[in-house]
Amino acid sequence: MRGILLFGPQGSGKGTQGEKLSAWLQLPLVVTGNIFRSNIKSGTALGQLAQGYIQRGELVPDEVTNQMIQQRLAEPDCVNGFVLDGFPRSVAQAEALHNFTTVTHLLHISISDAEAVRRIAERRTCVANGHVYHVLYNPPKQAGVCDSDGSPLQQREDDTETALRRRLDIYHRATEPLLNYYRQRQLVFDINGEQLIAKVWTDIQAIFQTV
Ligand SMILES: [Zn+2]
Repeated sequence: MRGILLFGPQGSGKGTQGEKLSAWLQLPLVVTGNIFRSNIKSGTALGQLAQGYIQRGELVPDEVTNQMIQQRLAEPDCVNGFVLDGFPRSVAQAEALHNFTTVTHLLHISISDAEAVRRIAERRTCVANGHVYHVLYNPPKQAGVCDSDGSPLQQREDDTETALRRRLDIYHRATEPLLNYYRQRQLVFDINGEQLIAKVWTDIQAIFQTV
């Protein structure tokens, strides 16, 4: 049984690495945002409860979120473990998680705020269909124009430096106590996210290749 948590700020490549790890270890990639959306979409009791809070502009309480995670991790595909992205977000949630499953690894993919800003600032999105480009790593054939549909490319509002720095602050404030919590339990594996995607991936594989 492998209970793997994925931590990393925006721009760390966490999503990409999570998909690779999930496929390689044949464990489901459980993304908290998707659990919310699927519960709300299929109108489960928890989904309806969550939707009520969201519609009133309130935070969904831990009891609701924790139960959704618990139910998802109790599904048959999680019998050998899971790769969990987006949970826990607080020590209280970590303690709740501890009550219904076992965490064996916390993969912490770190990049500096400066690097996160550099990576996100160079992202461009097409206005019509949301195709994503990167000025350096994945540029369009013609600057400022989408290859697929010819529509103009723009920098998304929430990709601006101010918005990103605000999100990074929130991330660090929530993450530091959690890292301490799991470091005390010797479950944290630090990975340098400021490397090529392929190198980050071999570093992650090495963790699971040791006996
Ligand atoms: Zn496009």
